[in-house]
Amino acid sequence: MNNFYCKRCVLPRSKPGLKFDDEGICSACRSVDKKYQINWRERSDKLMQICDEIRNKNKGGYDCIVPVSGGKDGTYQVYLMSKVYKLKTLAVTLQAHVQTKEGIENLNALVSSYNCDLLKVIVRPSTLRKMKRIAFFEIGNPNYAEHRVIFSSVARTALFYNVPLVVWGEDIGFEFGGNISKSSNDSGSAEDLINNDLFRESKFDHFISGRIDKKELFFFEHPDINELKKQNIKSIYLGYFHWWDGYKHYLISKSTGFKGREKGNLSGNIINYDNIDEKLCEITIWMKFLKLGFWRPHDSCGYKIWNGYMSRKQAVEYVKEIQYQFPYEYLDEFLDYYQLTKTEFNENLDKWRNLDLWEKKGNNWRLKYEIS
Ligand SMILES: [Zn+2]
Repeated sequence: MNNFYCKRCVLPRSKPGLKFDDEGICSACRSVDKKYQINWRERSDKLMQICDEIRNKNKGGYDCIVPVSGGKDGTYQVYLMSKVYKLKTLAVTLQAHVQTKEGIENLNALVSSYNCDLLKVIVRPSTLRKMKRIAFFEIGNPNYAEHRVIFSSVARTALFYNVPLVVWGEDIGFEFGGNISKSSNDSGSAEDLINNDLFRESKFDHFISGRIDKKELFFFEHPDINELKKQNIKSIYLGYFHWWDGYKHYLISKSTGFKGREKGNLSGNIINYDNIDEKLCEITIWMKFLKLGFWRPHDSCGYKIWNGYMSRKQAVEYVKEIQYQFPYEYLDEFLDYYQLTKTEFNENLDKWRNLDLWEKKGNNWRLKYEIS
């Protein structure tokens, strides 16, 4: 079935929220068409105007918060806000519980290169581990709880330090053709600090009910929207103001000490400089492959196509070559962290495999609709 994948990129129809038009082109590719029509100089000027309004007005406090992980995009965001727009920037990281050597070193390089303050949020390991384990079994997305902490901890930090602006990177909705958040406009919105696309899989209260003590959840609970509005805290996405190009961010970050993965690409990856700061995410993304029929290679090749670095023909070759490579590199750490036996792990992965998309060919599971 040839029309299962976008005719211009490599995303499949099974991606939630992605729409296809009569020409077989997906809504993410159509978003990119629109990006070519945007007057980026005007957008950049608009961001300067927002920054001019808040710069140095916070009585010695911070002008903005940039959430970072130690990756290339966060590093680029700190560069842009502190050096180009000259805001007093507080970097905030939700520290991964199983970090890589590169992740630790890149975060250190970010702080020393840009001479910025960094606030680390480390949530109670036992609570996070328990939630991730439940989410692994029940939602098939172990990162469910973590997504929640990222937004809530940043919102709480902005409130606590009375910081007027939070600067995210790309707007996933816009970049990937899903729902466009309220922050995808030039004024910024407090709502997006606590509402976003990532929470659709399960209602949080139902998820924790009777299993996790509410007292353990300060950084998991969103602050009151009225508090954010009262302090006039705004949230923006840099992807609205600047063309989002991960490779360009990598080059800029590299010039100030950012390093790719020393041992080269992880399985299923075409680059060695993305998602390398922690050890548990690759298997999580592999679960997306089982559920939805696409993962790292499709996403990375999509970006390369959209930014003009790769043809679809080449992308299809990459996807065919590497999509079935299981990310074994950190499997032992994954099993250890989640306290799983190999059998429990395999059984749960089988449970989440979508049989509308997968079939067994000989001894191997293969997608029913192969890309071409
Ligand atoms: Zn497409």
